[in-house]
Parts: sequence; structure tokens; C-alpha cells
Amino acid sequence: MTSLLTPTPRLGFDPATKRFGQLIEGRLVDGATRVAVVDPGTAEQIAEAPAASSEQLDLAVAAARRALPAWSALDVGERGRVLHAVADVLAAHHEELAQLTTLEQGKPITQARDDVSWSIDFTRYFADYRLETEVLRDDDANRVELRRRPVGVVGAITPWNFPLFQALYKLAPALVVGNTMVLKPSPTTPLATLYFGELIRDVIPAGVFNIVGDGGDLGRRLTAHPGVDKVSFTGSTVTGRHVMAACAPTLKRLTLELGGNDAAVVLADADVEKTAEGLCTWAYSNAGQVCVSIKRIYVPSSMHEAMVEALSRRIAALTVGHGLDEQTQVGPVQNKVQYDKAREHLTVARRDGRIVAGGDALDRPGYYIAPTLVCDIDESSPLVAEETFAPIRSVLRYDDLDDAIARANATPYGLGASVWGTDIENAMDVAGRLEAGTTWINHHFQLTPDVPFGGIKQSGLGAEFGRTGVEEFTDVHVVNLKHT
Ligand code: NDP
Repeated sequence: MTSLLTPTPRLGFDPATKRFGQLIEGRLVDGATRVAVVDPGTAEQIAEAPAASSEQLDLAVAAARRALPAWSALDVGERGRVLHAVADVLAAHHEELAQLTTLEQGKPITQARDDVSWSIDFTRYFADYRLETEVLRDDDANRVELRRRPVGVVGAITPWNFPLFQALYKLAPALVVGNTMVLKPSPTTPLATLYFGELIRDVIPAGVFNIVGDGGDLGRRLTAHPGVDKVSFTGSTVTGRHVMAACAPTLKRLTLELGGNDAAVVLADADVEKTAEGLCTWAYSNAGQVCVSIKRIYVPSSMHEAMVEALSRRIAALTVGHGLDEQTQVGPVQNKVQYDKAREHLTVARRDGRIVAGGDALDRPGYYIAPTLVCDIDESSPLVAEETFAPIRSVLRYDDLDDAIARANATPYGLGASVWGTDIENAMDVAGRLEAGTTWINHHFQLTPDVPFGGIKQSGLGAEFGRTGVEEFTDVHVVNLKHT
């Protein structure tokens, strides 16, 4: 189903004429140059965003360094209060930030509203988070405490699939433990982040949080900057390797959340309709542009026909359209590069497999790809072997569960996975054998601030969220007292 409606965004300003500014030491600063921002739902320019010069990046890092002593010395309760005030601002501008996210990113407005709600929830959760000192030993000879101190200036790089949410889920835990930050949004989705910076410029003390605009070459400079102590990067595995190399000369701390090729293993006792519903949701959400999308679906041969039919029926019923149309369930892919890649994937799908749903780019302005399902495809095809960041998914048959598990694990990625079945003990057992940072059972992609999320193998390094994630923004400080 397609919808041709392109509603006007409901914003308190016109993005085409608004001068979006970078946030540097509490001031809104023009870029050295400007970059065009495109609505992927129409492929037309909607705004211009500032891009930083090297000097402006230096100013932002210097501002973050200057702000560090006072911010880290503040009582954690005070820092938490600032973060709650940030959440209040997000809540007050909820709809506007959601509309802006949809306009620049393409996702359905219902999903953009979720992004803002999650941003608020995660910010409030981390605002109240406390890393207590651990007493490792307290005896007649010693008292040994394990304390945590902030790492310093964090360089954060956020991608274009959840631009605002990812900014907030890096910002809140980093700030609550006393770090300061310089954040670089993706050049294709900078607007909601820059607008957020404008809204909170009097809420977060000057220099504690800075946003620099990217003209397409800032990532390399930010990650190599000697004034940055830690990098938190979300993006592709290929770029993750470059980021790691850039961090090496100054031994920066590093968290990498990279690509994934998540397998869903459907067990023989799974309920076909219920499972198809869950698979469809988490395979096509955000037009398949989620690191933890379900990308490969393993189904017993005995269930193959029924599952393909149940999935195809649901896929055909999905409404594809502009994200601002309330009826839209699948929006465009985010940018022209991804669109071109997705069309190449469709060519490969036609060459290597049998398309049972979708299969084409839509013949209309914008970067629209019909949600597509492919079966009878060999796993050596790049469509299956590589991460497909588009609404194109493969169903793969298996006759032997051990074989399915081995095939699900036969990838350099290890981000998420899921198991679908009714015998929970068996599903838990299968989950334990899948190589992933997170394995969900009878659902996929549930992220909450209290549960660590990270990838194994080449899907990343370290974790975000939960105690593990907060600790990644700290260094260990042991204080060892000898009783005399
Ligand atoms: P990339 O992951 O390749 O990342 C691009 C970002 O990394 C840009 O902000 C870029 O900044 C920065 N960057 C590029 N080179 C370097 C470097 N040498 N050092 C530091 N930073 C650098 O995203 P793409 O947009 O190119 O998408 C490519 C693929 O990445 C997608 O097809 C998808 O598979 C995956 N992806 C994964 C995401 C996830 O959530 N894990 C999110 C988005 C994409 P600059 O512009 O300044 O160069």
C-alpha cells in the first residue's frame, strides 16, 4: 500500500529560512560553511545546516575542557537536576522535535515521537543514576575503595537513523558522571540535534555540551583531536575501524556500536501468525535502517511456506509513504547513498533469490523502497552475508536446528539475535548458543536504559546503557589506605 500524501510539518518556524547554529560554549555559532539538508520523503532541500571549520572544532573542544573542572566538581545531584531540566525541555518541544526528526530522517511520525519519548526517558533515568564507591577491602590492614572519575572530554558521533535519541543516550550518562562533550551529528540529519542545542543552551552550563556541524570531514578530525579523551561512536563497522585507529595515538577510551546482521531463529513450535507479526515489525521498522533490525530469518522447512505467506501478507499491507503522513508505517530510506545501495540490493535479490513481496523502488520523488522479502537465496549472496540497511529481508530454510544455529553464527557480526518459539526452556537454550551481544526471545530490539547494549565480534566494543554503559564514561580510581 502506498500513500502519496506529503503533509506540511507543524513547526514553530520554517526550516528553509531558519539559521540553525552550532552550540559552542553556550553560544549559537554560524558554520564556516553550510550544507544542504534534504527531506528523503521528497528528495528536496529543506534547510541548510552549519559546518564547522577546524578552528571551530578546536574552540568547541577547548570550551569542553574549560568547563570540565567545574562540571565534574559539582555534586552529582546538581548534574542530575540539569539533566532533568533537559528532559523537561524535550517534553515541552516533543511534537516539534518529532516533526523535525521525520522531516530530515524520513521515519514515520509515530516512530519519531517514540524517539523523543525514549530520549526523555533515558535522560531522566541517567539523571537519577548514581555510581556508588565500592569498598573492595576493609580490614585491619587496609581500606581499599574503587571509585569512578569522569574520563574528561567525550567526542560523540551520532548517525542518521536515530539522530536525536542517540545524542541523548550518549549525552545523559556522560554528563551525569561529570564529563563534558563535543557532539557531531550526521551531515544528513543534523537539524533536530542543532535545534535541541538551541533549546537547551541556557539549561546546560556553557561549554559542558557543544555541538559542531559536519560538512563531511569532521569525524576524522574529532576522533583524532588531542583534546578529546574518549570517543563514543555509532555507525558502520568499516568506519569503526578508522575511529579505533584515530584513537590509538592518544590512547583515547572508546565505545563502538557498529553494524549488525541479526538473525531471527524461528523454532518448529513457534506460532506462525504471532511470530510473523513480530518479525515484520522488527525487520521493517525505520525502513530497515536499524543496527539491530532482524535481517536474516531462519525458518524450519516444514513451516517455510506458511511463514512466507504470513510475512508476505503483512508486508503487502504496510503503508509506505511520507513520514509526516500519520498513516505511514514505512518511510523512505534516509539518504541518496543508502537509496542507491538499496537499489543495488534489489538487483542482487533478483539475481540470487526469489522475491515474494515488494522488489522495487517506488516510482515517485523521494527515496522509497517497497518493503521486500526474498527467499530461496544462498547465504553466500551479499544480500544475506552483508548488513542490508534497507527494508529488504531474507527467509532462509533449515532442517536441522544445530545447522541453523551454526549458520546464524557464521558472520563477523554479533550485535543482536532473537529466538521465536513456545517452549521457553528450549528457546532459552538456543538463545545461549547464539553469538550476539543481546538475544531476545519472542521479540527483538527492546532497548531500555537499565540494560547494557553492545556488540561482540565486529559489531562493536564496550556497551551503552546500564551500569556497564555508565562505567564506560569513567576511569577507575583506586584509593588504598594502609592503617598505621
Ligand atoms: P558510517 O558508519 O560509515 O559513519 C559515518 C560517520 O562516521 C560520519 O559521521 C563520518 O563523519 C564519520 N567518519 C567517517 N570516517 C571517519 C573516520 N575516519 N574517523 C572518524 N569518523 C569518521 O555511516 P554511513 O552514513 O556512511 O553509512 C554506511 C553504513 O553504516 C550503512 O549502510 C549502515 O550499514 C551502517 N550504519 C550503521 C548504523 C548503526 O546504527 N550502527 C547507523 C548508520 C549507518 P564525516 O561525515 O565527518 O566523515
